[in-house]
Amino acid sequence: MVGATLACALAGAGLRVAVVEAREPRPFDAASDYDQRVSALSPGSEQILRSIGVWPLIEKRRLCPYQHMHVWDASGRGEIHFDAVELSEPYLGHIIENQVIQGALVERLRGLEGISWYCPDTVRDIEIGADGVEVELDSGTRIRSRLIVGADGAASRVRSLCGITFQARNYTQNAVVANVSTEQSHQNTAWQRFLPTGPLAFLPLANGLCSIVWSTSKAQAEDLVNQEDEEFCEMLTQASEGKLGSITGTSFRAVFPLRGGQANPYILPRVALIGDAAHSIHPLAGQGVNLGFKDAAALAEVLQEAQHDIGSLRILRRYERARKGDNLLTMRLMEGFKTLFSISMGPVAILRNAGLTIANRSGPLKHHLMRRAMGLSGERPKLALRGYR
Ligand SMILES: Cc1cc2nc3c(=O)[nH]c(=O)nc-3n(C[C@H](O)[C@H](O)[C@H](O)COP(=O)(O)OP(=O)(O)OC[C@H]3O[C@@H](n4cnc5c(N)ncnc54)[C@H](O)[C@@H]3O)c2cc1C
Repeated sequence: MVGATLACALAGAGLRVAVVEAREPRPFDAASDYDQRVSALSPGSEQILRSIGVWPLIEKRRLCPYQHMHVWDASGRGEIHFDAVELSEPYLGHIIENQVIQGALVERLRGLEGISWYCPDTVRDIEIGADGVEVELDSGTRIRSRLIVGADGAASRVRSLCGITFQARNYTQNAVVANVSTEQSHQNTAWQRFLPTGPLAFLPLANGLCSIVWSTSKAQAEDLVNQEDEEFCEMLTQASEGKLGSITGTSFRAVFPLRGGQANPYILPRVALIGDAAHSIHPLAGQGVNLGFKDAAALAEVLQEAQHDIGSLRILRRYERARKGDNLLTMRLMEGFKTLFSISMGPVAILRNAGLTIANRSGPLKHHLMRRAMGLSGERPKLALRGYR
């Protein structure tokens, strides 16, 4: 998602880009079941995708806007409710299947001049020289370029081939994902309950189902995946306190290990990392790919404005300076929340519940949090600004 976004932005600005992708995206079929991997995209990300001509291709497929977010604490009565109306916005964001985002990006890429598409293919080796980089693919193809961008996810091969270290954090949790039907309507609301074992999210889908992300201990995740459907629905009803009534049906469950970490540095001469290759964070606030889109937009801006060699450290430093602080801060915040909500008793739990209630009543603090999560405040790349293109 992140690499294709950068490629669209650069090709749209007249650069020549070779895109190497290991897996051919599945063609979109409107009659198919909803995919289990979804992302909550902020209005800031929507703006980036609009600026590069991809958003209309997503709208043509399927997406679900959500106007509210309701977060509550399993160990107490603290809760906070976010409503788009408070910011005079039509929605807080959209829930979109990852395969829909990928399909729309690839459709756009195929319509752009200046794109060479190598798929399915993978990077085998990278040789960095003084004035260029040579990439060898598994197919034997060799590509020479002034810059290679690693957008190949949390287990980035580009990162390891270039010898960039990754400070990994093991969250000791796995996420169970599934699409479920609920007795009551999801009300276009993203629901999240913080359990001591980890957060449980219900994200609304356009067909009335909810995509759930249940982060929990590895042992419980294993157990949840292996339950009979009926048992699983019962456990989910209890874990969600029946907020949407009973869970009446479920798809099969998939499990994802949750790992975090940060590459250091993000750049070398002729190399830049973006998206999960540069940083991966806990999905509890649905920020991972939103940060990645900002990386892509910031790097595109720096490269478009470069007066000389786009692979030089001097140019690439501008990108790292623009993005590392924001990514690190978000990662620390998510880890802070995860730790804070894992404590189920005592003064910390009492203070946390009180804090949620106070934040819920305090307009300015809540609106600040909302604008930040929606990608509508703070330093933003030009592609993320409304009305830029
Ligand atoms: C359960 C869960 C829920 C999440 N929910 C959200 C959410 O709601 N909102 C949000 O913002 N984020 C969310 N995230 C995080 C989000 O999924 C990631 O941040 C996002 O996928 C990162 O995108 P990316 O393009 O950087 O990397 P990836 O999505 O990992 O893509 C990497 C691409 O590189 C390709 N590739 C890999 N290796 C090679 C190679 N050697 N050669 C060629 N190609 C290669 C892969 O095929 C893939 O297409 C969630 C994560 C999890 C686990």
